[in-house]
Amino acid sequence: MPQQLFNTLTSRKEILTPLAPGKLGIYVCGPTVYDLSHIGHARAYVAFDTVVRFLRRNHHVTFVRNYTDVDDKIIKRAAELGESPEILSERFIHEFKEDMRALHVLPADVEPKVTEHIPEIVALIQKLIVQEVAYVSGGDVYYAVERFARYGSLAKRSFADMEAGARIEISEQKRNPLDFALWKAAKPGEIFWDSPWGQGRPGWHIECSAMSSKYLGETFDLHGGGKDLIFPHHENEIAQSEAASHKTFARYWMHNGFVNIDNEKMSKSLGNFFTIRDVLKQFDPQTLRFYLLTTHYRSPINFSDAALQEAENRLQYMYETLQRLEEAIKAFGHQGSTAGVLRQSLEIVERFEAAMQDDFNTPKVLADLAELFKLINETLAVPKDPDTDARTLRAVAQGIAEIATVLGILNEPATLVLQRLLARQAVQKGVDTAEVERLIASRQRARADRDFKEADRVRDLLAQMHIVLKDGPDGTTWDVKR
Ligand SMILES: [Zn+2]
Repeated sequence: MPQQLFNTLTSRKEILTPLAPGKLGIYVCGPTVYDLSHIGHARAYVAFDTVVRFLRRNHHVTFVRNYTDVDDKIIKRAAELGESPEILSERFIHEFKEDMRALHVLPADVEPKVTEHIPEIVALIQKLIVQEVAYVSGGDVYYAVERFARYGSLAKRSFADMEAGARIEISEQKRNPLDFALWKAAKPGEIFWDSPWGQGRPGWHIECSAMSSKYLGETFDLHGGGKDLIFPHHENEIAQSEAASHKTFARYWMHNGFVNIDNEKMSKSLGNFFTIRDVLKQFDPQTLRFYLLTTHYRSPINFSDAALQEAENRLQYMYETLQRLEEAIKAFGHQGSTAGVLRQSLEIVERFEAAMQDDFNTPKVLADLAELFKLINETLAVPKDPDTDARTLRAVAQGIAEIATVLGILNEPATLVLQRLLARQAVQKGVDTAEVERLIASRQRARADRDFKEADRVRDLLAQMHIVLKDGPDGTTWDVKR
């Protein structure tokens, strides 16, 4: 089945046909690094990381994701903190990378920074001035939107809509209120670079046009970002790039949906604004990524404590199943065959591919996985089933691992994640884990001494602390009663 995706440019699902067979150039707008990333960022970067991971199975992908490391917000925040914009942005690039690592978002192939591409940006602005789609006004340079006939074609808005709908900076320097800055003159004391129009810095939109063409060419396959970037940012990228090159800019545009909190739009002014760090204080990074994938990337996603808690319970169940599967593989011999399970697992991989080829339908993939995990538990519940053998179970485990590699979840050692979840739950319930370990050890000793009365007494003591013991072949593990 060919890869299909919803193209914002045409408002319909299309078959993804690469410009060069087997290759894909992908650009996603990166963060403006003046603060910690919020869960809107988590959503966008997890969505496109999953898309890129899947497309890499069949294509040679060049993935570019930039850093906006100079901008009004960075300059303002740096001034407030009394530090240089360079130091501030470096710090938040570091913090961003840490968040992405926690969420298993892989680095892009190229991660260009604006401050390292000023010559390319100046050259592109020059080109636009020469073609008379941009003009110098004061020390600024503006893009003249009326000179680009297709302006508004991505957002599907007329000039009147755009003027009415957008928060437009009114400036006497501009000919049309919709004109946007390509270059901004530096105010006294601000960071600047020399240019033919005086000392200043690039506007926001021009950087993505300059950096994408440098690394992917003037025409490339796929451009992504959040829905909030469609207008004006992506509209402006198209206007700049296509006016300069007279070629199609990005051939496909993908946009992820908004993030709501308790069914309200997330915003700083509403006081319901969450950074990735805020969520990770309460929930495991794997839970956050798993939760993000339960909603289709184009739909709005609603965050609530209850929804995240449910996601964490489901994640725990899946890792417990994986652990059970691993143990069974170790324990079972080679007799018999569970052809049914094997067939099902192969079918699951096929269904996974089909769901992802249909505009990256991760909720469908997760529903299919839930079905498979149920089947695994049912199969393993039959003790020493002569029809179950290690080879079949290994094939099932391999199928799951293949899917996990793309989803970026269920790809950590199960014991490690389960320990992490357990420790977190214990802390939340006020359980002293050292005390629990000590009591378990004393129960083990009592059992070894055949002092079953004492062993039972300790077990009851632990039960009062909401600790459930599980005695297995490799010793005793414990869980907090949920
Ligand atoms: Zn951009």
